[in-house]
Amino acid sequence: MLSGRLRERGLRVTQQRMAVLEYLLTTPRHPTAEEVGSAVNRAVPTASRASVYNVLHSLKESGLIEELVLDDAVARYDANLDRHHHFICRACGAVKDVPFETFREAPRPRLAEGHIVEDYTVTMRGICPGCAKG
Ligand SMILES: [Zn+2]
Repeated sequence: MLSGRLRERGLRVTQQRMAVLEYLLTTPRHPTAEEVGSAVNRAVPTASRASVYNVLHSLKESGLIEELVLDDAVARYDANLDRHHHFICRACGAVKDVPFETFREAPRPRLAEGHIVEDYTVTMRGICPGCAKG
């Protein structure tokens, strides 16, 4: 339950938080704040741009969503909290999830001495199947 997830993290349940979280859990799109705003406004027409930013911030702070900054230096939001990588289509701009296992066997990069790698994600760029056909 969405309201349970919010309460578990100590967040008050509001219509806007529910609408934003629900959207992020159901879209594969990795939307920007702007895109979240326009989607949520269809459900909760009172959500101002500032309140959408506040909601995204509180969900991020409480660990319910992650913020990604990919090539375009725009923050995107992801409710998939499992470790995963991303594939970006350079034709349509779609950002897709790639299972973490895909790179499990990949060699760890050798970094200068003193670095301890605790986690890593890979961002792949290319053409998605839909665009490759066209
Ligand atoms: Zn993702």
